[in-house]
Amino acid sequence: KKIIVWFRQDLRITDNPALSLAADNGSIIPVFILDDDAPAEAVLGGASKWWLHHSLLSLSKSLSNKLIIRRGNPLSILSDIAEEFSADTVVWNRLYEPWQRSRDENIKTELKKNNINAKSLNGSLLWEPMSVLKKDETPYKVFTPYYRKGCLTRQAPRFPLTKPAQMDIAEGVEFSNDALLSLELIPKIEWYKEIEAQWEPGEEGAANRLQRFINDAATSYQDARNLPAVKGTSLLSPHLHFGEVSPNQAWYAIQGAFENAFDNKDLDVYLSELGWREFSYYLLFHWPEIQHKNFNAKFDHFSWRSSVDDLKAWQFGNTGVPIIDAGMRELYQTGYMHNRIRMVVGSFLVKNLLIDWREGERWFWDTLLDADMASNSSGWQWVAGSGADAAPYFRVFNPILQGEKFDKEGEYVKQYCPELKKLPKKFIHKPWEAPAEILKACGIELGKDYPKPIVDLKESRKRALDAFAQLKAIS
Ligand code: FAD
Repeated sequence: KKIIVWFRQDLRITDNPALSLAADNGSIIPVFILDDDAPAEAVLGGASKWWLHHSLLSLSKSLSNKLIIRRGNPLSILSDIAEEFSADTVVWNRLYEPWQRSRDENIKTELKKNNINAKSLNGSLLWEPMSVLKKDETPYKVFTPYYRKGCLTRQAPRFPLTKPAQMDIAEGVEFSNDALLSLELIPKIEWYKEIEAQWEPGEEGAANRLQRFINDAATSYQDARNLPAVKGTSLLSPHLHFGEVSPNQAWYAIQGAFENAFDNKDLDVYLSELGWREFSYYLLFHWPEIQHKNFNAKFDHFSWRSSVDDLKAWQFGNTGVPIIDAGMRELYQTGYMHNRIRMVVGSFLVKNLLIDWREGERWFWDTLLDADMASNSSGWQWVAGSGADAAPYFRVFNPILQGEKFDKEGEYVKQYCPELKKLPKKFIHKPWEAPAEILKACGIELGKDYPKPIVDLKESRKRALDAFAQLKAIS
């Protein structure tokens, strides 16, 4: 019996339910397809493309250099491969973006019409969205009851599977570097050198990252996770997005590291972050339109500003507000941004600059290595105040106070805004308040070496609150 395993965002061989099922039941035809018919909002951004290229190389190695890579329409490619190899079954792990769900449903139906069995399994979530509902059968909208009641007390996550003891890969399956290159995932301009130095896409890289977190940071997670200058988080997000590690593996590995002490705060907070990932998928599943539409429809009447100059200044880290610029430069240079800083730069864009959250969502989509439709849209809607269980719109992060609290010594700012390196700690988060002689002694001319702030923080905060008050008046 020959079984096609359609790899998608599950680029690993351990704890891969679809692969294990196939390995137990026949010889395997591993396939990856770049879907050329994906809708515009789902076409991979530059950073994700780079990651995917390397992740596929790594997956292929784990499969003894036997992985078919194609691009085009998945249904016709799967049908062709089934015919070519005389396979009668296709298996895959489920995906949850709205377009993927309808595409996969359609593929299942069409394959079955041609007498090809199609079976899907859960390989990416701890709790699948369709199985978690309130007593009245409606979905949860608030994280804590969703996570504590709907998930935790109902059912423990599935225990991870081991790597298939034996994988019989069908004769004729080969990896072709030309096929990989034809996906055109590697950009022509080499902007990824710094990224390459910091990240190791693939299952082995994910396992290393998880182990490093367990060894070095897990026991101080609760506090250190808020400090952008410290490597206090797991940095697993791109690995989780591409399925190089499953949330189940992370869940149980971390619990094991704490010897299953459930009352441990660091452990509890870490597991609940994995819970937030689940909640993002849950929201996208039950409210598919939240990727581009306000969850709270009141925000449809919000009077966003449009300013190409301000948006550009934000994107490239030239706003003149150091913690914002450091964050945006971290993102652009490394493909990653610390979670707290994502919230702070988001608040600055949406509230101080009054620019639509969807502009931020798009920029993150293109530049984040962990760009993920579920987590990105819910993260942005949380920041904007338009989401389910979101931060209230009237809570505007003060970037100076956030900087002074979470980057006390200014190390993070100095790393990404080296032009401010010499500035005393007192002014590192507000260089415009530094006396002229200090700026001069530090060799900084504001407006030349480092921008003057593009907005007045107090006035723009007031402007945001006024716009919000108007919104309240409309509805
Ligand atoms: P850790 O602190 O080690 O957390 C472990 C894992 O939990 C993460 O890898 C991630 O999978 C999950 N997680 C943690 N926090 C969140 C959260 N708030 N929401 C959902 N999942 C979470 N995360 C993405 O993976 N992709 C995105 O596109 C994305 N966009 C975001 C946009 C905004 C505006 C905001 C505020 C947050 C966004 N996040 C996104 C969530 C979060 O910032 C990242 O998951 C986290 O910074 C990744 O770093 P880490 O792996 O070290 O996290």
